Amino acid sequence: MTKETLYQEMGISSEVLQFGETVLDSLKERFAALDETTEYNQLKVIQAMQKNRVSMEHLGSTSGYGYNDIGRDTLEDVYASVFHTEAALVRPQITCGTHALGIALAGNLRPGDELLSISGKPYDTLEEVIGIRPSKGSLAEYGITYRQVDLLPDGNFNFEGIKKAINPKTKLVAIQRSKGYQTRPTLSVAKIGEAIACVKTVRKDLICMVDNCYGEFVETIEPSDVGADMVVGSLIKNPGGGLAPIGGYIAGTTECIENAAYRLTTPGLGREVGATLGVNKSFYQGLFLAPTVVNAALKGAIFAANIFEKLGFPVVPNGSESRHDIIQAVTFGKPEGVIAFCKGIQAAAPVDSYVTPEPWAMPGYDSDVIMAAGAFVQGSSIELSADGPIKPPYAVYFQGGLTWPHAKLGILMALQKLVEAGMADLRQ
Ligand SMILES: *Cc1c(COP(=O)(O)O)cnc(C)c1O
Repeated sequence: MTKETLYQEMGISSEVLQFGETVLDSLKERFAALDETTEYNQLKVIQAMQKNRVSMEHLGSTSGYGYNDIGRDTLEDVYASVFHTEAALVRPQITCGTHALGIALAGNLRPGDELLSISGKPYDTLEEVIGIRPSKGSLAEYGITYRQVDLLPDGNFNFEGIKKAINPKTKLVAIQRSKGYQTRPTLSVAKIGEAIACVKTVRKDLICMVDNCYGEFVETIEPSDVGADMVVGSLIKNPGGGLAPIGGYIAGTTECIENAAYRLTTPGLGREVGATLGVNKSFYQGLFLAPTVVNAALKGAIFAANIFEKLGFPVVPNGSESRHDIIQAVTFGKPEGVIAFCKGIQAAAPVDSYVTPEPWAMPGYDSDVIMAAGAFVQGSSIELSADGPIKPPYAVYFQGGLTWPHAKLGILMALQKLVEAGMADLRQ
C-alpha cells in the first residue's frame, strides 16, 4: 500500500493531500533553519544533564515527605543549567502552568505591593489569580494591587507607558511571551530583553517575571538569558516533551525560587519536601526530548500558517515571519470554522479519535471554549491540540504535535473537514 492510499483510507482526499504537498515544497529552507535551532537546544539540554552528572539513581523515586530526593534536586539543577539561572523549582505538585504562575506571584508579592503587567491583559486564567475578575483567594484579596500597560497597536512594548506606570509600590513586573488567546504577535526573547532593560533602568530591584508558556526551546535563548528574574511554565507544554504526566517549573534567582517554594509547600518547609512518586524518569526523558518535540510542533504551526494563509484566512503569525512560540492562530470569522478545524484535529488523534469535540463552559474562561485533543496526557497541549473560545473573531489556536508526521496529518484532516463544511475552496 502506498502512503497516498493510507492517507485516503484515513479520510484525506487526494486534492487535500496534493494541496498540502505543494505548500510543503515551499517550506524546505524554513524547516532546515528550524533544525539548526533544534540541534543547538538538544546540545544545551545534554550538556546540562552531563554537567550535573545525571545518573541512573536520579531516575528513581521517593514517597511520603520526599526528603533527600536526589532525582528531584538534580533535575532542578538541570533546569537551572538549561535556563542559566541560580535555581529552579520543578515539581509534580505544581499542577499546571497557572498554578506555577500563581505561586511565583503569591510567593514574591506581599500586602501593599503592586503587580505590573507590561504585555497587556494576561492569560485568561490569571485574571482570577490576580483578581481582575473577582475570585476567592486572589492576590487582590490579600491587598496586592494590579496595574497594566498595554502593548502598542503594532505589538511592541510601550516604553514610555511602562516608565510612567512604575511607582513606589511596584514590586513585580510580569511579561507574557506567548499571545495566549489573543491575536497579538508573540514577543521575541530579544524584545523581552529590551523591556526588562527598560524596567531595570527605572529600579533595578524590580522582579521581572516572564510567563514562558509555549516558548521554551523555540529560540536558542530564553528570557532568563536576557535578564528575567523568573521564567515560569507548564510541563504539559514544551519542556515536558510530551512525557511529563503533570507539573510546572519556575527557574530564576535563588531568592525568587525560595519564596515560590515557601508558597508551594509551607513557610519553613519550602523545597525540602515533595515526593516525586515515580515521575522523575519521565521529567528527565521529557526534557531530553523537548527540543525535537518543539521542532515537530513548529513545523506543524508553519505548515498550518501557510496552508490557511493560501486559502485567504488571517493567520498569526503569518506564513513567513519568525517564530517565538509554538501557537498558531487562524481566524475563521464564524463559529463553524472553529468547530470544523477542531473536529479535524480530533479525528487525527491516536487516542479518542472517534469522539466529536463540542464547545463547553471551561473553568477559568469567560466564554464557551471548544477543545480538540486526543492526547496521552489529559489536556496536554504539547500534544497536537486545538482550542478556540466561541466568541468573535472566531479564531482557533492550534499547537503541538509530538512528531511532525502527526502534526501534518492533523492539519490535513482539519483542512479536509473545512472543505467538507464548505468553508475552504482549494481551487485558488
Ligand atoms: C497555557 C498557558 C498558561 C496556563 O497554563 P495551564 O497549564 O493551562 O494552567 C498561562 N499562560 C500562557 C501564556 C499559557 O499559554
